[in-house]
Amino acid sequence: MAAVHDPYEEAKRQLRQTVELLGLSDEVYEVLSVPDRVLEVKIPVRMDDGSVKVFIGWRSQHNNALGPYKGGVRYHPETHKNEVIALSMWMTWKNSLAGLPYGGGKGGVRVDPRKLSAGELERLSRKYFEMISDIVGVDQDIPAPDVYTNPQTMAWYFDEYSRIKRGQYFGVVTGKPLELGGLQTRVISTGYGTAVVAREVAKKLFGGIEGRTVAVQGYGNAGYYAAKFLAEMGARVVAVSDSKGGVYSSKGLDVEAVKKVKDETGSVVNCKSAERRITNEELLELDVDILVPAAIENVITEANVDRVKAKAIIEAANGPTTPEAEEVLTKKGVVIAPDILANAGGVIVSHIEWVNNRMGGWITEEEALKRLEEKMVNNLNAVWDYWQSKLDTSKYNLRAAAYAIAVDRVVRAMKLRGWL
Ligand code: GLU
Repeated sequence: MAAVHDPYEEAKRQLRQTVELLGLSDEVYEVLSVPDRVLEVKIPVRMDDGSVKVFIGWRSQHNNALGPYKGGVRYHPETHKNEVIALSMWMTWKNSLAGLPYGGGKGGVRVDPRKLSAGELERLSRKYFEMISDIVGVDQDIPAPDVYTNPQTMAWYFDEYSRIKRGQYFGVVTGKPLELGGLQTRVISTGYGTAVVAREVAKKLFGGIEGRTVAVQGYGNAGYYAAKFLAEMGARVVAVSDSKGGVYSSKGLDVEAVKKVKDETGSVVNCKSAERRITNEELLELDVDILVPAAIENVITEANVDRVKAKAIIEAANGPTTPEAEEVLTKKGVVIAPDILANAGGVIVSHIEWVNNRMGGWITEEEALKRLEEKMVNNLNAVWDYWQSKLDTSKYNLRAAAYAIAVDRVVRAMKLRGWL
């Protein structure tokens, strides 16, 4: 699937284009193309069989002009330093675009968590957080869940940090379990936010989301909730997939039934009520109105872009569309709601959780959901308006507008602080 794309090179290229679009100096590119700090850590873990296995992890802090670094930690067997750096840069733009008082950070551990026992995973998580504990903190850098990490991981991080620092620092991580200051809304937030963006884009392109066909690649937290809420909004979710493959039904899938099958058997492919099985490649090439890549980077590339038929792509994953593919899609008139806009729901609710923790807690779930929805709609409209009023839409997609707004805000903050 993934070609030899270096996400960091891509992130730098996007920055370069934005700096040029905004007519900013080279100096701005020089300062923002390199992260403030990347900490690489060794994580020795006592395995259940008594042996010790060494894992490697990173925390990249890209820029903190707007506030403390903020972004998730992913556990993935193929993650690497440059991916983590790119992701931290994308968090800077995502947080800026969302109007949050945060800079960008990201963490990663090269591990396949599905191969570890719960005890091994806990020891790995605690050790990783211990190793980065000097550079994180409520007002310094606030990790959260990402690919293959979840509220339980955050509970271990929070507990380990509180043990080391001898206090109760709820705001040091977000995406925590409810019992430890988390919000239920955080669990659904990324997928819900993506669904709201898809709904708003559908309103602009087709007059509404009702009856529109949708394919979702990836059935983890983001993909599943995006599919669930899109179905509730009246869309027809005709295909979903996970790393083992996908399923298709022209009449629309029962999203909850597919989820149950995935939970019970490990994959959506075992869903018997679907019309047929499809591959991940086929899913991306389906003739649907809306495609939601919700898995990993670089799935829509030069290699398959000519066969992509969707009219709108709503990026729930980070970096699913390569720049080469985007160029082709833009020429075809395909609208791409970029990751930094479409998957910002997670970090938007993380911010609400963090504020709530710092205040000692009073925010209700209803309030959190309402604020998330409002913010997603406003952000999409701001990006759409910028795109329509300031850019040549046959040459630039929504991503260029989103980047322009995001980079401009960071640059203004840096100037005000005297960094530029
Ligand atoms: N990992 C998520 C993202 O990529 C959420 C980050 C957060 O909540 O801090 O946006």
